[in-house]
Parts: sequence; structure tokens; C-alpha cells
Amino acid sequence: MIRSWAKTRAAGVLSRTGMDKVVGALTGSMRVPVVIGYHRVVEDFAASAATSIPSMLVSQQMLERHLDWLGRRFRFVSLDELGARLGGSDGSHDAIMAITFDDGYRDFYDHAFPLLMQKGIPAAVFVVTGLVNTTGVQTHDKLYLLLVRRFAARAWRPGELARMLQGFGVLLPNITAKTPFQATRALLEALPEESIRRVVAALEAEAPIPEDTFKPFQSLTWEMLDRLQRAGMTIGSHTRTHVLMTNESGRRLVDEVTGSREEIERRMGTGVRHFAYPSGQFNTDSVNAVANAGYRFGYTVCRHRDAERPQLTVPRTLLWENSCRDFRGAFSGLILSCQIHRAFDVVSGCRQRHRIGRESGNAQR
Ligand SMILES: [Zn+2]
Ligand SMILES: [Zn+2]
Repeated sequence: MIRSWAKTRAAGVLSRTGMDKVVGALTGSMRVPVVIGYHRVVEDFAASAATSIPSMLVSQQMLERHLDWLGRRFRFVSLDELGARLGGSDGSHDAIMAITFDDGYRDFYDHAFPLLMQKGIPAAVFVVTGLVNTTGVQTHDKLYLLLVRRFAARAWRPGELARMLQGFGVLLPNITAKTPFQATRALLEALPEESIRRVVAALEAEAPIPEDTFKPFQSLTWEMLDRLQRAGMTIGSHTRTHVLMTNESGRRLVDEVTGSREEIERRMGTGVRHFAYPSGQFNTDSVNAVANAGYRFGYTVCRHRDAERPQLTVPRTLLWENSCRDFRGAFSGLILSCQIHRAFDVVSGCRQRHRIGRESGNAQR
């Protein structure tokens, strides 16, 4: 709430002084067409936020407000058209924007697709191929829900998470988190996939979650993806298993990026040019893997770019239900304007250590 109030105040001051444009230029957003990223699209935000990471949700109603506001200021284009602009083969200079949805949740089909069709907006969906056509659930969703339940009954005390992990045979003595979301993020960033699986299995053994609970988290089917593609939507890859690429190496990386691409091409019968890094995490090895797999464009979630492969590190702005609300809880175009100009980057920075040789953009913290 305090953060939201501070953002509203910052947005007001910035906009009144014309500073949002100055900050936008400083942070580099003016040089790159804007790409927006969403995750799940739900009917009722509050109801879904009881079991899902809130920042992965946007309600159909809020999505429409965002799109209407943006549509008055930008021309929505497909990722291919945006790519032509990035590659310099598009000579025009109008303000363009592309809309993307990560993880390939089925709710995109039910709640976003009809809205996009009605408004004539092309969008892209980045799918996790190992989950398409299955009842499987993303590891981050499962881990978050298990942690919410594990700590529901009491406040999180310092050291409690580390003690729980130790009980599961996972040693991370310095890990701290005050909320289930912080814990989910810390675990996903700190542990290789194999250890994450062990933690999930141990939590599930302690307190099993009924199958039905996971239904809203299911992925799209190939049939749905086919209909989306026929309607003009772009299907991109988001790896096979949503593994954090900076925690993996060698064959596993290749398998994740090449395997997912081949599967989409085989199922959909078209080439795949676009790739989104899971959680936006990238370093030199992952950018190389994406290049070697033959993708033309890669999308991140921060402003840092690989100077040698800028097309494979295209920045995106992630939005969700509460990312553009003022202190009263109302939608604020001012805050949305600051979000897309990345004005808040000045204060919040990037938490990643990309370890890429020569970077464009500002120095990392
Ligand atoms: Zn993702
Ligand atoms: Zn970064």
C-alpha cells in the first residue's frame, strides 16, 4: 500500500513536470518499442489471489482498462511487426506496442482471447510445451500454494523457512522470507530444479492438495493454440518446463530451448521465431542457447540488454491487476504511463546478475 501510494505520488510529480518523458529517455524505453507482459487472466482477481501469486493475475475488466488506455496512445502490432521495427526494416516511426502473455495458461483462451478479438488486437502467447495438453501445473504455482498453506496458520518467524528446508534435506541456512511469495521467489532463484522438486514433494507429502484446486492453473491445449494461431495470435516458446535458465547449463539448456521450439513447430506446422525467458532470467549461456536454437527474438523483463545480441534481450514491462492503481485503488493512467516508460526502474532497479560481458543500458546494481 505504501509502495502504491509512493508510486502514485511519484507518477503525479513526474508527469506534471514532464519528467516521465525525460526518465523514459534516460532509461532507454524511447529507443525500443514497448512490449507488455501479462500472465493469467481471470474473472475475479480477489478470488483467484487466494490461491495464486497475485502479481501473476489480471482481471478481464482491468485488462480491458489497460488495453483501452494504451490503444489511444499506441498502435498494437504483432511481435513479427515489432521485430521488423527492431531490425530496422520498418521505416515508420509511429508509437507501436506489442502485448504478450507468459506461461500459456488456459484462462488466456477463455478470458483474454475474446477481448483481444473484439478489439482487433494481435497478441502473443509464450507456452511451456511440457504442460500443453496436460493437467500438469507450473512448479511456481504449486510451490506457492503449498507454502501459503504451510504457513497459513501462523506468522512467519525468522529462520522458520530455513528450518523447514533443513527438515527436507535442503540446506539454505541464510534464506529469509516474510511472505509465501518471497519464499517462492527465493527458492526458485536459489535452487536447481531437482531440489525444488524435492521441496514440493515433501510439502505435498505433509499436506496433500486436492486435484481440483489446481484446475484453474491448467495450460492451453494444442487445439486451442491452433485456433489462436488461425485467429492471428503469435505462439512463442517459454521453454519445455519453465526452468530458470540461469540455474541450468549444457544439454539441459539446449533441450529446453530447442526441444520446445521443435515441438511447437511439429504441432503447429509453422516456424517459431519468438522466445521469452522464464521469469526474465538470462545470462550469456542462456542467450547463446536461444541464439543457437534459431530464435530471432528473445524477451526479458528488465532493461538490460546483451550488446552483442540486442534482439535476443528485448525488454518487456510486466503488468498485473494492481500495477496501475492509485492509493484509492482506482486505475491510474499516470501510473500506467510511468510503468511503460520504466520510470520506476530508477528506484527499484534490477535484482538479476546477468553476467553478460558487455551490456548496453545502465550499470547493474
Ligand atoms: Zn513464465
Ligand atoms: Zn536486468
